[in-house]
Amino acid sequence: MLNVVIFGAPGSGKGTQSAFIVEKYGLEHLSTGDLLRAEQKTQSDLGKLIESYTSQGNLVPDDLIISMLAKVLDTKMNKKGYIFDGFPRTTAQAEALKVMLAERDMKVSVMLDLNVTEEELITRLLNRGKTSGRSDDHFETIQKRIQVYHSQTAPVKDFYKKEGLATDIEGLGTMDEIFARITKAIDAL
Ligand code: AMP
Repeated sequence: MLNVVIFGAPGSGKGTQSAFIVEKYGLEHLSTGDLLRAEQKTQSDLGKLIESYTSQGNLVPDDLIISMLAKVLDTKMNKKGYIFDGFPRTTAQAEALKVMLAERDMKVSVMLDLNVTEEELITRLLNRGKTSGRSDDHFETIQKRIQVYHSQTAPVKDFYKKEGLATDIEGLGTMDEIFARITKAIDAL
């Protein structure tokens, strides 16, 4: 079983590379961002609550995210493994993921950290904003998301470093070049 945590700042290419990884390794893609956007679309009370965080570039509270992910893990069983995209985003989430997986006889195989300069992140997200229709892909919110990444999400890397699972991936270059670096890291496991 291969369980990959794909990590990096907003705009680092996690979603794009996840799609390639899913195709090559047959993993189940679990993107908390996609799950949250799906809930927002329904305009349920929960969706509206979620939107009050995401539209401001803030993280959705840990307990909500963790219970949402645990539910999805049990409904989307996949023997080959999972790719966790956009999760964990806090150290508490990383700890919860470890427990959640252990309870199901699983563990994280590798954490891939896509390294991209801040200038490139902003360029990519502004470009994406032209077509994504995402309320959080505009300049002020992008800046806020990057700030939140540095203060709350970057420490997650130390968690995986301690576990001996953190692997840096140069995130600049063509999509194929970046994917080649990823497959090299995965195939070396
Ligand atoms: P993403 O599509 O991964 O960029 O996520 C979009 C937004 O959803 C983020 O800016 C957060 O507001 C929220 N979000 C996604 N994943 C998480 C998570 N693991 N923890 C907290 N908030 C999250």
